[in-house]
Amino acid sequence: MADIGLECTCGKVKGVARNISPSTARRVICYCEDCQNFARKLNRADDVLNAFGGTEIFQITPSQVEITQGQDQLRYLKLSEKGIYRWYTDCCKTPAGNMIGPKLPFLGIVHTFMGKDNACDKSLGPVRYSVMEQDAIKSPVTSSTEMPKAESSAPKFPISLMIKIFARLFLDSLGGKNKPNTYFKSDGTPISD
Ligand SMILES: [Zn+2]
Ligand SMILES: [Zn+2]
Repeated sequence: MADIGLECTCGKVKGVARNISPSTARRVICYCEDCQNFARKLNRADDVLNAFGGTEIFQITPSQVEITQGQDQLRYLKLSEKGIYRWYTDCCKTPAGNMIGPKLPFLGIVHTFMGKDNACDKSLGPVRYSVMEQDAIKSPVTSSTEMPKAESSAPKFPISLMIKIFARLFLDSLGGKNKPNTYFKSDGTPISD
């Protein structure tokens, strides 16, 4: 288990993700259009997305994360009415966490929010899932680049992973791991509009 420093690109927002290990943080690459649109909206496609449009995310619970500095910079957007909360920092438009909502203990941290001296492979292990590959960019700029390998790859969102996420959500809900929650007030409203 390790604590991982979180930091936006300009350094105004800082935080920490606690008790991180390959078993408590699921490392996933998502190629879905929403994740791509989010990165493009923030003008961060160049460093958030890989050559095929994939976003590397590690999935943890809100209780593992504390924003220690610059919390007032956090904003969120939803790409659709029922979409997930996609947090980012106002200062430098760094993605700062994807959440389903205040009640569910699910938090996806995009790799660009990890402090620069973190070694992904060491603390998170290999990429376990590569999902929504049907939306991947077919012809990357540099044709020599190969799509990053994952233990399991799927054109859509695989049922097996869905079941794992829901099972974990259920257990973590019982364990109250949606709290403390750095992104939502105790009444369930987001900390920013
Ligand atoms: Zn910043
Ligand atoms: Zn996605």
